[in-house]
Amino acid sequence: MKEKILVSSCLLGNKDRYDGSHKLNERVVELGSRYEFIPICPERFGGLVSPRNPSEQKGDRVFDNVGNDITEQFMKGAMKCLEIAKNHNCKIAILKSKSPSCGVGKVYDGTFTGTLVDGNGVTAKLLRENGVEVFSENALDKLYN
Ligand code: SF4
Repeated sequence: MKEKILVSSCLLGNKDRYDGSHKLNERVVELGSRYEFIPICPERFGGLVSPRNPSEQKGDRVFDNVGNDITEQFMKGAMKCLEIAKNHNCKIAILKSKSPSCGVGKVYDGTFTGTLVDGNGVTAKLLRENGVEVFSENALDKLYN
């Protein structure tokens, strides 16, 4: 039986992104021969629709580009992802880089100017704090070895 891992749904071709697009990633898809994918989209789980306004983290909160505080939706989505990880015993997650939910290691700084800073998305952070190893789609070598 294949190990189950969480994967950001937009990386699998689902049109869940803020602009209604996806980010299908063939290198991620190829890992389906080794792992069983459990698709997650924390922002959709949190009740946000696609398309929606872009959002960025600022401090401990998340705002969209017109100033709405959407931290609660982000937290709800993150909690749902953690629940799914526990239910499926997922120890690994492949998450979309730079997203305010899914970003691993780098996220936008809250100014909507395309400026990246060190940090993790809300869901990436929660999963990591709970023992799930998180990878961005740009750092998959370990999963191929
Ligand atoms: Fe993709 Fe994550 Fe954004 Fe959903 S929240 S569209 S899975 S990056």
